[in-house]
Amino acid sequence: MSSISENLEKVKYNISEACRKSGRNLDDILLLGVTKTIDIERINELLNLGVKNLGENKVQELISKYDIIGDNADWHLIGHLQRNKVKYIIDKVKLIHSVDSFELAEEINKRALKNNKAMDILVEINIGAEESKNGIKPEDTEKFIDKISEFEYINVCGLMTVAPYVENPQNNRRCFEQMHNLFVDIHDKNKDNINMKFLSMGMTNDYSVAIEQGANIIRIGTGIFGARNYS
Ligand SMILES: *Cc1c(COP(=O)(O)O)cnc(C)c1O
Repeated sequence: MSSISENLEKVKYNISEACRKSGRNLDDILLLGVTKTIDIERINELLNLGVKNLGENKVQELISKYDIIGDNADWHLIGHLQRNKVKYIIDKVKLIHSVDSFELAEEINKRALKNNKAMDILVEINIGAEESKNGIKPEDTEKFIDKISEFEYINVCGLMTVAPYVENPQNNRRCFEQMHNLFVDIHDKNKDNINMKFLSMGMTNDYSVAIEQGANIIRIGTGIFGARNYS
């Protein structure tokens, strides 16, 4: 067995354990393979193992991989997105996880209209209120969502967060719980043009805890491919 398939088996086992512990349904969890810095050969290996949803955090890298892999994968943009780059990905990605400003939402709406297809997006929340991180503040989330729900070519599908890096993943449990509460609050208000179905949180270090607290999209790079080589 290759290391990718072995790693994937471990990840899947951990996902099923987290589901079992928290009484959740395995089928409700979407595993995103995070492929930043990973070459095409290794990405193809993951695709062949049945993981079809891939997350990239940079537009340029996503496009160059899309040129080769195309629609054999479902692409997710998970990193910070600059407004002037929306036009390059609007017809390539299935879900943008990182909408963090009104101006970005406005640009996505404009480009989606031109592309004649509404774009599914998540609102990125800065749940740890870290200065170094992008995202809407938890207390501003509902107002922000109300504002961008006016855009006809944007479908708000849920929330995403990059939790703080912690040694012990249990230390992010409270953050994930806050995210889930925010998600449920907005979900239960049944707002027009808002369909809260995805809660994207949990990475290699803390995805088990994230699932236990209600995540239904987890984003895993290192846990599948091993440590990234940025050189
Ligand atoms: C890199 C990245 C991940 C995956 O991180 P790992 O710790 O390698 O699993 C998840 N989400 C975002 C936004 C990322 O940039």
